[in-house]
Amino acid sequence: MKTAIKLLFVALLIGSHAIAADDHNHKIIPGPQGGKLLESEPQHAEFFVPPNKKASVTFYDDAMKPVPIKSQEVKITVEAKFGKVALELEKVGDSFVSKTTLPEGDGYRIVIQIKNDAVSKPQNFRVDYHTEICKECNRAEYACSCEHGKEGAHEGHKH
Ligand SMILES: [Zn+2]
Repeated sequence: MKTAIKLLFVALLIGSHAIAADDHNHKIIPGPQGGKLLESEPQHAEFFVPPNKKASVTFYDDAMKPVPIKSQEVKITVEAKFGKVALELEKVGDSFVSKTTLPEGDGYRIVIQIKNDAVSKPQNFRVDYHTEICKECNRAEYACSCEHGKEGAHEGHKH
């Protein structure tokens, strides 16, 4: 019986993917560019790695429209087996973009620190960077918008 319900649910998801995803995963807003949406305050931020492997962060208002960078400060740190590497960022359009590409492969952690301005409290987000495509949402696993993709999204208060 449970299997039957699950199959029906899957069929519904395929039939009306966007609506079903909204109903059941309302806590996860998919990043508009295909990246991971970080629940930063006061603006949402999207961590996105395009095919050129240069990591980027873009800010969005509540209507999910990109907003220009004003006073925000962003740091992106790669925590791989060989150690921690802070990526040098530059402003490109409305985004912070890394000057260098991410290390080869995946399976490492990326920490994104966002400050709304120079004096505000840093907000840290951890992303486990996996690039394989999720079969449920068709997004890269690090940016998965399914419920299971939520864990580890927010670092909270870690000292
Ligand atoms: Zn998914």
